[in-house]
Amino acid sequence: MSQFRASDALSQVDFISAKELLAYHSAGIESVLDLLMRLPKRYEDRRRFDQFPTQAGGGACCLRGTVIDTQVKRLGGRKQFYEAIIIESAEAALATSEITCRWFNMPWMKNMLAAGHELVLYGKPKEYQGGIIIDHPDFEIVGDDQDSVHLERIVPIYKSVSGVAQRRLREHTYQILAGIGRASLAPVYDLDPSYPRDEAMQEVHFPSSIEQAQAAKRYFALEEFFALQLNVVWKRARHHEHEGRVLGKKTALLTKFYHSLPFDLTTAQKRSVREMIENMRSPHPMSRLLQGDVGSGKTFVAMCAMLLAVDSGVQAALMAPTQILAEQHYLTFCQWLEPLGVRVSLVTGSRREDSHLELDGDAQIIIGTHALLYERVEFDDLGLVVIDEQHKFGVGQRAMLVRQGLMPDVLVMTATPIPRTLTLTLYGDLDVSILDERPAGRGEVVTALRKSPKVSDITKFLKQHLTEGRQAYVVYPLVEESDSLKAQAATVEYEKWAKRLSRFDVGLLHGKMPAEQKEQVMSSFREGGLQVLVATTVIEVGVDVPNANIMVIYNAERFGLAQLHQLRGRIGRGEFKSYCILATDGKSPEAMEKLQVLADTTDGFKIAEADLRLRGPGDLLGTAQSGLADLQFVEFLADTELIREARAHAEDVLQKDPMLAQSPDLLQLIEDGEFEI
Ligand code: ADP
Ligand code: MG
Repeated sequence: MSQFRASDALSQVDFISAKELLAYHSAGIESVLDLLMRLPKRYEDRRRFDQFPTQAGGGACCLRGTVIDTQVKRLGGRKQFYEAIIIESAEAALATSEITCRWFNMPWMKNMLAAGHELVLYGKPKEYQGGIIIDHPDFEIVGDDQDSVHLERIVPIYKSVSGVAQRRLREHTYQILAGIGRASLAPVYDLDPSYPRDEAMQEVHFPSSIEQAQAAKRYFALEEFFALQLNVVWKRARHHEHEGRVLGKKTALLTKFYHSLPFDLTTAQKRSVREMIENMRSPHPMSRLLQGDVGSGKTFVAMCAMLLAVDSGVQAALMAPTQILAEQHYLTFCQWLEPLGVRVSLVTGSRREDSHLELDGDAQIIIGTHALLYERVEFDDLGLVVIDEQHKFGVGQRAMLVRQGLMPDVLVMTATPIPRTLTLTLYGDLDVSILDERPAGRGEVVTALRKSPKVSDITKFLKQHLTEGRQAYVVYPLVEESDSLKAQAATVEYEKWAKRLSRFDVGLLHGKMPAEQKEQVMSSFREGGLQVLVATTVIEVGVDVPNANIMVIYNAERFGLAQLHQLRGRIGRGEFKSYCILATDGKSPEAMEKLQVLADTTDGFKIAEADLRLRGPGDLLGTAQSGLADLQFVEFLADTELIREARAHAEDVLQKDPMLAQSPDLLQLIEDGEFEI
C-alpha cells in the first residue's frame, strides 16, 4: 500500500523532522511533488570510484577515502583554512596514495570533519608543492545505516537547501519514491506513452545508468517546454480572435514612396512587406516580428507598413530604445517622407519636434523613445505600433504603447538574430518575417583577430584610411578606469587617440554623457566633422554612418558574441570595403574560440547558433526575457529536437480541442503559466 501521494504536504511525511520541514518551507518546497520536482543538478557514479589522482589536469573526480589527519592552518600568516589529509580506502587502493583537502574561511569545518571519518568527495584536483590538493570539495561522510541510499549506485546531487544536509535530501527523496502511489505521478498530458512518468521520476533521481538519467531528464524537460509552448500557442490563438481593423487597402502612398527610392527593395524586404500587408488587411490585429541583421533594411520595411497605415487614415508610432536611435529614425523618416507630404513628429524626453510646421493637421507618424509612454502624447487614432529593438523594452512597456490604440497592428523589430528554436519559444506567439539578405551595393567586411596589436600599427592603419576620407570607430568596454577589471577606459583612451591622431578630429561618446552632448557628438560624426569616434557600446544599436569603414574593438574578449556582432554592424554600411579589428590579450582559449567565430562569418544566425552552443542559452536572453530564466531546464533551449517536439504536441492538443474544453487540467496549466514572454 502506498504511503504518499504527490499532492501531499511535506508535513504529512513522518521521516522529515520539524526543523527540516521549516527549512524546506523557507526554500518554497511545500509538497511531496515540490520535492520530487527538484531534480538532481548532477550525478555521482559511486559504484566505482576514481583512483586517487597523482597529477592534476583531468576534470573533477569522485573519490572515496578516509581522513587520517586534520589541522587548522594559515596561509601567508593571514588566510585561515582547515586541512584534511585523506587516504584512499583500502579496497580501492592500488598503492597508498593520499590527497589534501582544504576549506578556506570555514572555521566550523573542524567540528564537522575529524580523523577516522570515511568520505566521498568530489572536486577538481590541482598540484601544489609536490602534492595533490582539492580545495573546497563537495563531500559526504559515509558509514551509517543509510549507506545503501548513498553508495554502490549512481547518486543524485541536488542543489542545496539551506538547513537540510545533502544526504538527508537524498534520503527523503529516496524514501518518498519508495512509498509513493504510482497513480499520483501520472502526467497531466501523456507526452510519451512508452515511458511511464513514475518510471521517469524514479530514473531521474536514482538512475540505473547515466543514459537512463539523461532520458528521464529529457522527459521532464519536454514536459516543461510543452507547458511553455501550450501557453504560447494558446496566446497566439486568443490574439487572433480579436477584432482588429482592416488597414492597408490603399497603396497609393506606398507606391509613391517605392518609386522615390533610389534603390530597389531586396527580395527579403519585399517578401516581408507582402507578409505585413496580408496581416494588416485581415480583420485581426497583426503581431509580427521582423528579424534581420543590422543594416538589412528593417527601417525601410517598417516605413512601408507605416505608410500603409497613414494611407488608411490612422496614425503610426515607432518606439526606439534610445534618444540617438529615435533621432536617427526621425531624420531618416523626414528625409524620405517629407517629400511625400507625410507629417512626422519626434517625441523624446528632451526634445519635441514636428516636421510639418507649415502643414495643417496632426502628426501621421510619431517617432520617439519611452517618452511616448510617459510624456503626454495625444494619439488621435493609433492604428499601427512599431517597436524597434524590442528586446530593450519590457513586456509592460510594449503593452502600454499598444494600449494607446484600439487593437492596433503591431510590428516588433529586432537586430538580434536568434536561432529558429529560440524564436519558437521567445516569440512563438508572433508571426515572423526574416530579412536574410544584405542590400546591394555594400562593401565587404573583413574581420581580423589580433593578439595585443601594436599601437603604432593600428595608428598607421587608421591614418591611412582617414586620409582617404573614411571614418572610424574605436570601441572600449568600460566608461571609467576600473582597477578590478583593468579594462582600458574610453575616457582615458580618448585623450591618447586625440594625440596620436592629432591631424584628425577625434570625438568621445559614452553612456554617462548628457543626452544633448551625446547627440551633438553623434551628429558631428554623422556629418563628417569628427573622423574618429572613441566610444563605449552606446554606439551599439542602429547608428548609421555609411562612410565609417573601420572599427577597432579593444578588449574584445570582454564582449559577448551577439554584442560584437551588433557593434560590427556599424561598419560595412557603405560602398567601401570595411575592416573590423578585434584586439584581445589572447589569454583565454575560450575567448579566442568565440572571437574566431566572428572572424569566420558575418551571418548573424550562424553567430547566434555558435553563441548558443558556446555559452548556453542563459546569456542570450536579455533581462527583458527573464521569464525564461525561471525555466528549470533552460539548457534544453538549445535542443532543437525537443523544442520542436514540444511545439508539435502543443499544436496537436489545441487543434483537437481549441478551447481545451475537454482538458481542464491543461487549461489550469495555462492559467498557472508564469511565462511572461
Ligand atoms: P536596419 O534598420 O535593418 O539596421 P536600415 O533600414 O536602417 O537597416 O537600412 C540600413 C541602410 O541600408 C540604410 O542606409 C538604408 O538607406 C539602406 N538600405 C535599406 N534598404 C536598402 C536596399 N534595398 N537597397 C540599398 N540600400 C538599402
Ligand atoms: Mg534599424
